[in-house]
Amino acid sequence: MTGAEKLLHRNQGWVRRMLSVSPSVRADILGGQHPAVFWIGCSDSRVPPELIAGAEPGELFVLRNIGNAAPPEDPSAMAALSYAVETLGVSDIVVCGHSDCGAIKAALSLPAAGPMETWIAGLRAGLGDVSAFLEGASDPVRAAAERNVRTQVSRLAATPSVRARWAAGAVLRLRGWFYDLVDGRLIELFPPLTAPTLPQGLAVTVT
Ligand SMILES: [Zn+2]
Repeated sequence: MTGAEKLLHRNQGWVRRMLSVSPSVRADILGGQHPAVFWIGCSDSRVPPELIAGAEPGELFVLRNIGNAAPPEDPSAMAALSYAVETLGVSDIVVCGHSDCGAIKAALSLPAAGPMETWIAGLRAGLGDVSAFLEGASDPVRAAAERNVRTQVSRLAATPSVRARWAAGAVLRLRGWFYDLVDGRLIELFPPLTAPTLPQGLAVTVT
């Protein structure tokens, strides 16, 4: 049995679980989605949002890509953001980075070629002058990954979708989280942003 076939087989257990939940919970799910959180995470197979955050179906609206990025020039990210904020009306946007991130390693060493090149170059550009914050860092990949989370949150804060929501007086918190593969903990890197003014440490160049 291949890895993919195992997943199909395991789905039978999920079906049993789905059929065993209360009728009201099932009715909620079938009636449409009302997630409170838009989660932007890395495609890395070791950081599945629902598993590490203990979320149930219906709780997270998710965008995953290489390096948990939300560049304004990426139509996929901007479409997901627009839908999450303007249609679903989420109250929180979480950008979640993680330790040992291959995308960040690539951004620091720039070995990418082919289709990956443009994407990784964008991540690298978002990190800015790496020598400034990597100096003395005990874990350069982690330091850069945390920096990347701050960059993405800063970018989100500058988008028309988020600005319009804030201007309308809606509650919308932008959060930067970090997941440690070693101990499985999620931590919040800085206080949530609730207005256009970026706190110190987030004033990176918005590209
Ligand atoms: Zn990653």
